[in-house]
Amino acid sequence: MPDAKRGGPATLVKAGTTQILVDAGRAVVMRLTGAGSLPIFLSGVLITHLHSDHLTDLNDVITTHYIMSQTETPLHIYGPPRTQEVVDGILASLAPDISYRLAHHPDTLWWQPKIIVTEVTPGMTFTLGEVQISVGQTNHAPVEPTVSYRIEHEGKSLVLGGDGIPCPTLDAICKGADAYVQTVLREDLVSLVKNKRFLDILDYHSTVEQAAQTATRAGVKKLILTHYVPSIQPGQEEEWRALAAAHFAGEIVLGDDLTATTI
Ligand SMILES: [Zn+2]
Ligand SMILES: [Zn+2]
Repeated sequence: MPDAKRGGPATLVKAGTTQILVDAGRAVVMRLTGAGSLPIFLSGVLITHLHSDHLTDLNDVITTHYIMSQTETPLHIYGPPRTQEVVDGILASLAPDISYRLAHHPDTLWWQPKIIVTEVTPGMTFTLGEVQISVGQTNHAPVEPTVSYRIEHEGKSLVLGGDGIPCPTLDAICKGADAYVQTVLREDLVSLVKNKRFLDILDYHSTVEQAAQTATRAGVKKLILTHYVPSIQPGQEEEWRALAAAHFAGEIVLGDDLTATTI
């Protein structure tokens, strides 16, 4: 839901000199700036799935990366099958803008945006900057395909579960992770809204309790909740934390916009 104070889903991961953006929801470039980063500092962008709320501002990441690059610099984007199709569509929408810039700066900007898309499937592993990444399968049906990412750096590990409900492959990729980021909703609050299309979201998102149960089953050390539905209202924070704490004994972080945590 649009919210004057919240950006859409996105997580910035910093490991050594490597910066990785996971998902690119509404206002992501504003929030990147608030976190002391910029698209030109990214080693890559990982997309968990192609729901619009997770990539509505990918065009801003692409454009800002393009116009701030002083040399022809590729932007690496990883995502599930059809990510190339989405990026091609974004680039098509930017064609007029790109033509204006090329015409205006012929001495300093003579290249098209160079976007290198790698479509990933569960089980794949790859290196990006200083980190190793493995790809897992998630259950966000009927949205398919959807993936999670496990990022490893110097013995530390972080899983970004994306949207979805608990499943054995999510447990597997979370196993023993130092931290696990999960998008969550409050079933008790969502159920109060008697709107059929809104109620439909209950069947393909983890509740706070389910995210905590996944963390416990997998032996995760730190649970980071994000992408809350509905928004946490001021004063409700401990209520959300208590729902998770009833099922998970480790550290719980409520990942409001610009929350930072070190692993
Ligand atoms: Zn989704
Ligand atoms: Zn979402």
